[in-house]
Amino acid sequence: MGNLKIKFLGTGDALNTGGRANQAILFQSNGKNLLVDCGPTTLYLLQQYNPALIFEINAALFTHFHGDHFIGIVALDLAMDRLGRTKPILYAGPENVEDQFYKAYNLCYPGLKRNVHFVREFQKHSPYQTKDILQDGHFQITPIPMVHGSMVCLGYRIQIHDYKIAISGDTVWNDQLPALCNGTDIAILECKCYYAQSVKDHHLSYEQIEQNLPQLNTKRLILVHPGQEALEHLASKDVLAKDGLELQL
Ligand SMILES: [Zn+2]
Ligand SMILES: [Zn+2]
Repeated sequence: MGNLKIKFLGTGDALNTGGRANQAILFQSNGKNLLVDCGPTTLYLLQQYNPALIFEINAALFTHFHGDHFIGIVALDLAMDRLGRTKPILYAGPENVEDQFYKAYNLCYPGLKRNVHFVREFQKHSPYQTKDILQDGHFQITPIPMVHGSMVCLGYRIQIHDYKIAISGDTVWNDQLPALCNGTDIAILECKCYYAQSVKDHHLSYEQIEQNLPQLNTKRLILVHPGQEALEHLASKDVLAKDGLELQL
């Protein structure tokens, strides 16, 4: 097995509940860097953690286009250009990723030229189609459709060497979650609520996850994206990731 570092830059929900940064999780392996989700706080965190990553992230993969998972890419893209990045970057996600990126970019910085000093590559992901996203054998990504109101959200199975990681993005409980998590070393699930009865049509609860844990069949469960209720019940438990958590596999 090769080495893999997982850095939880941000683990919070859309409201930064509990003072947590927006969701952004970095996978680092053999000199390659994959960022999954990029909320409004992500550039700030990269500047604190390791500014060299602004030049070295190979791909940003989005679970969906809600602002707390996506809108930070505009600031990161601007920083990459202004600081002189020349290395290409891949933006990957649900099928309208290119359109969503330019909509957000033009809204935030109208009139800025589209051509920057680096190449932006876009990669559309479709459910169940595995892609070697950098085409170098590093990150094999299989999208699994989640259920998140009217927003298309893809969970991802990520294979890095022999490690298998699942990440849900935002979702309600749905019958694809066991397929997403089955046989994984780590499953990173959103957990906005604590009680099943608190869940409406967008998110998961700790009770639902706990009740269905055997079906998920993962070696290690890690929860992120807590709202106030989940935070009150889970803050002291190891299962809930904290901002800055670093796992070395
Ligand atoms: Zn979210
Ligand atoms: Zn969302």
